[in-house]
Amino acid sequence: MKEIVVISGKGGTGKTFLTSSLAVIIPDKVILDCDVDAANLYLILEHQLIKEENFSGSQKPVIDYSKCIKCGLCRKLCRFNAIDETITIKDELCEGCGVCALACPQNAIKMENEINGRIYSGKSRYGEFIYARLGIAAENSGKLVTIVREIGRDIAFEKGRNFVLTDGPPGIGCPLM
Ligand code: SF4
Ligand code: SF4
Repeated sequence: MKEIVVISGKGGTGKTFLTSSLAVIIPDKVILDCDVDAANLYLILEHQLIKEENFSGSQKPVIDYSKCIKCGLCRKLCRFNAIDETITIKDELCEGCGVCALACPQNAIKMENEINGRIYSGKSRYGEFIYARLGIAAENSGKLVTIVREIGRDIAFEKGRNFVLTDGPPGIGCPLM
């Protein structure tokens, strides 16, 4: 099984157009859209959705105020200033590092999984098609790309496909590059 990945150092240069053209020409393959920040191959490639699942790539703290004694230790230790004087977490500043949960003497803070995106599995007339969409400004795109690639490889091995064709993320900073 061979993998063909279409990537570029800059967005908007025709990656998806090229991938969709290759999808028509290359036989016996699984098609992936790993441009999870701005997936759009699904708009071109007509397909039937078979499965949808949530992606969780990070955690956020949740405070149980029935246990909190307002000692302020979590606020003091948070290096991102994400906890205010009323011991309320400011989501926009929280990096999900978990220090507050580890330090709380009352065990009042729990880290809970966040839903950061969604993974879609389907079938097109040109082959199985997997893609994902990361939430707006959500983190861990690299983890989501890895999951899409793993799903694609598993299907390719299971079905004995010769190729995995991937529309990759653009930009020189992307983890796939
Ligand atoms: S460390 Fe725990 S007990 Fe102290 S203020 Fe924070 S949540 Fe409340
Ligand atoms: S998880 Fe980290 S960044 Fe978020 S509130 Fe706790 S200490 Fe601050």
